[in-house]
Amino acid sequence: MDQSKINALRAQTVAAFDHLIDGKHVAASDGGRMNIVSPIDGTVLTTTAAGTKADMEAAIASARAAFEDGRWAGQPPAARKKVLLKWADLIEANALELAVLGVRDNGTEIGMALKAEPGSAAGTIRYYAEALDKLYGEIAATPSDILGMIHKEPVGVVGAIIPWNFPMMIGAWKLGPALAMGNSVVLKPSETASLSLMRMAELAHEAGLPPGVLNAVTGEGRVVGEAMGLSMDVDVLAFTGSGTTGRRLMEYAARSNMKRVYLELGGKSPNIVFADAPNLDEAAKVAAGGIFRNSGQVCVAGSRLLVEASIHDEFVAAVAKASEAMRVGDPLKVDTHIGAVNSDVQLRANLGFVDTAVSEGGQVITGGGRILEETGGYYMAPTLVTGVTRDATLSQKEVFGPVLGVTQFETEEEAVSLANSTVYGLAGAAWTSNLSRAHKMVRAVRTGVMHINTYGGADGTVPLGGVGQSGNGSDKSLHAIEKYVNLKTVWIKL
Ligand code: NAD
Repeated sequence: MDQSKINALRAQTVAAFDHLIDGKHVAASDGGRMNIVSPIDGTVLTTTAAGTKADMEAAIASARAAFEDGRWAGQPPAARKKVLLKWADLIEANALELAVLGVRDNGTEIGMALKAEPGSAAGTIRYYAEALDKLYGEIAATPSDILGMIHKEPVGVVGAIIPWNFPMMIGAWKLGPALAMGNSVVLKPSETASLSLMRMAELAHEAGLPPGVLNAVTGEGRVVGEAMGLSMDVDVLAFTGSGTTGRRLMEYAARSNMKRVYLELGGKSPNIVFADAPNLDEAAKVAAGGIFRNSGQVCVAGSRLLVEASIHDEFVAAVAKASEAMRVGDPLKVDTHIGAVNSDVQLRANLGFVDTAVSEGGQVITGGGRILEETGGYYMAPTLVTGVTRDATLSQKEVFGPVLGVTQFETEEEAVSLANSTVYGLAGAAWTSNLSRAHKMVRAVRTGVMHINTYGGADGTVPLGGVGQSGNGSDKSLHAIEKYVNLKTVWIKL
């Protein structure tokens, strides 16, 4: 990473963003604007359109028209593939510009942002572009006088609602498979991290995506997100975000056209360290990285550290040391390990969780407070709290910030019972040298993703999805395609 190039990009003024509807930039129907505050220093970076219900309805109508006339779905797979590959190339060619814009908007440290945002988004779009002409229908095992076939058809209009922690990466997880299969998409980025995703949508048009196939509307979730959820013309909602919003989307679907709703929600993922872990120093460093990167604003963050009692003190000391070695600060400096918390609201919520943890008997070993307040930005020290009980708030509620709670266990059975004691089931890990214990943990811990002797880093070849209140359906891998197709049975009498 070249610091001088990053500095030059951050010095640029960010132009105001409007919606992208029918391939054109469109202001809000009532002229409303939203201030976009940079978490780096708390200043207003730019504005976006504050979308209205009418704006969302216009975007959906445009997407529906584009789907019905076949300007994208009707193109040969090879033609769709060409456009998507060009889009991936454009994302890569503009990677630093996109990453810096995104960091100014959401505060993620630039090293991670560059890799996880444009880097991952381009890879995801390319993965589905390359897959789309290698997918076949099926012929069923019917009696000889029947031909039974199964076609995979696009569902129509997909509504994609995206959170603020990794907008481009998560956006691409929905856009890649949905567009590859011929659907039209209406995108609703988060209020507090929309800019890089809006720019990425513009690049899709530069790559040759026909107008109306991908529309993007900015604004409040309660306004434009609700209008999308209640629409009679959206066929699938693909959502990543909080459980509270996820519940609302299910209600909207029930109150409207019973659209399919796919939810990628939060987690309280257990990172279980046994005394026989192959390398405790390595485990401590990875445990710290597994919660504190992007200020803990990672859905799969290992936010509950479950440690075998015999190594508890030694391991906690190693995690504290690794945490204190992580430099928190300006996310656009290349040597920063942890950037800014996304918003003032999120920072205050994080601090509230620390206060609650202490009031419930937890001990803050390191961190615990706001830092670098003089910058005007929203920074928090990586925070390690020990003595967290099974039912404590810090064990049960997702913080989505840089706060790691530690709980001790004595036996493997107790570790499993603690791991499974929340309503969530997104990710988890076990550290052990014992092969059969490792496999037992994989089977026993109820999660969508289970790591052994590592944490995080799963790439696009494997699915990411939760169980329990962490959601349903999966992003990533070929399995994600299932969300964006309808199966059609053809039954022919020969
Ligand atoms: P959020 O639910 O507040 O917002 C997510 C999106 O929903 C935003 O675009 C928002 O505008 C929109 N929204 C809000 N209210 C709405 C409504 N009434 N109708 C329709 N849309 C509405 O979540 P967030 O704070 O942006 O994201 C953090 C959450 O996302 C955390 O819980 C985190 O764990 C989760 N997350 C999950 C994954 C995963 O893959 N499982 C990945 C990243 C983040």
